[in-house]
Amino acid sequence: MELPPLTRELQELTVLKEYVCSNVSLASLIEWKVFEPLIPYPHKTDPQYKPGKKICKECGSEHPTPPEKDIKADMKLYRIEENRLQLLFQELLFFYYNIDINHPKAQLLYSKAWDHCHSSGLQEVVCWFNDLKDLIT
Ligand SMILES: [Zn+2]
Repeated sequence: MELPPLTRELQELTVLKEYVCSNVSLASLIEWKVFEPLIPYPHKTDPQYKPGKKICKECGSEHPTPPEKDIKADMKLYRIEENRLQLLFQELLFFYYNIDINHPKAQLLYSKAWDHCHSSGLQEVVCWFNDLKDLIT
């Protein structure tokens, strides 16, 4: 199945469940970058976060100007979106393997898989989750 261009509207649990139900694999969804924020990571080297200088019309000399954008505010938005997508991944993973996310050991299972390897990518988390899931099912 050909996946459409990714939009914010597609990064929703109900939408992604439909993809899973149409036999789209988690690997494809990961490759589609569905669990990654669409908003750019705020790099502090980006000129829009740096204060500038402007020639003043009144006196002709340079005056400092504030940065166009506030990096702290943008970083906060980025982290909120990142957390939302991590939760989305978690919920979809449980849905995919048909495991009750409210199982008493569900969070333990998930955090074992996550802590082990999320730095190597979500596909690794899926592999570990798949290996460990039999412990609670
Ligand atoms: Zn001036």
